[in-house]
Amino acid sequence: MEEIPLWYWLLVFFALGACVGSFYNVIVYRMPRGISLINPPSHCPLCKKHIPIRYNLPIVGWLWLRGKSACCKQPISVIYPIGEALCGLLGVLALFSAVAVNAGSVSAGLFSAPVMEPAVWASAFAMFWLLLGAYPVCAVDCKYKLIPDSISVGGIVAGLLISIVPGGITPLQSLLGAAIAGGGLYLVGWCATKLLKKDAMGFGDVKLLAGYGALMGLTGAVETLIVAAILGIVVMVPYGKITANKGDGTGQIPFGPFLAVAAPFMYLWGAALFDIYVKFVFGE
Ligand SMILES: [Zn+2]
Repeated sequence: MEEIPLWYWLLVFFALGACVGSFYNVIVYRMPRGISLINPPSHCPLCKKHIPIRYNLPIVGWLWLRGKSACCKQPISVIYPIGEALCGLLGVLALFSAVAVNAGSVSAGLFSAPVMEPAVWASAFAMFWLLLGAYPVCAVDCKYKLIPDSISVGGIVAGLLISIVPGGITPLQSLLGAAIAGGGLYLVGWCATKLLKKDAMGFGDVKLLAGYGALMGLTGAVETLIVAAILGIVVMVPYGKITANKGDGTGQIPFGPFLAVAAPFMYLWGAALFDIYVKFVFGE
């Protein structure tokens, strides 16, 4: 592993991201139609024939078949390989940003040099989770007003596992991050609910922030919450005026997407942003 250059790992991360994208395609197709994710195995939606695994390879399968199903020659939407490629690029971005931030600068020898430090791998996997998890959080929260447990609770599990890798945050920091960030937001939501006499904060947001606490530690999660709240206000105030007073909860603003967008940025640059903020407020 010590001799393998970065460009090779970038290809691996592209493939991993594309596989996740391929899985998202399956979810997006099957969930609204009430079909189980694993059973029946991959089949053509038109003629119901089983699809062999080689045609299911992300991007490659579509190109191989030139956009037509092998069984009944029906066109397959180009949106599927595009989604897979975009997820692949997010995978590349996860590793590349982890290397670039940890190395300080992107030097000429970067692509040929192997990735040595375990801390970089920990960052890369955390970024992979944050970037690829952002898409389902945004899509599901906007459409169904809920956050999938596989991403929020899954984030707590992923954060704790990644914290075992030396060089990043410690398992204790991860655990405290999850407990205090999640617990704190729960308390804020509880107080706001009492004050406003209506549900102010979804429990999904609490679990999502707990996951970010486990992945980024407490400071990162708090920074994510602050930036997400600012983003939410900036984006939603004009929109909120129209929808806030419906009274039946339909005007409720999904907060998950703002958390999900803020998290990867704060993971990479939260500490730097905090330094700038402190200098700005205290003058040095
Ligand atoms: Zn078919």
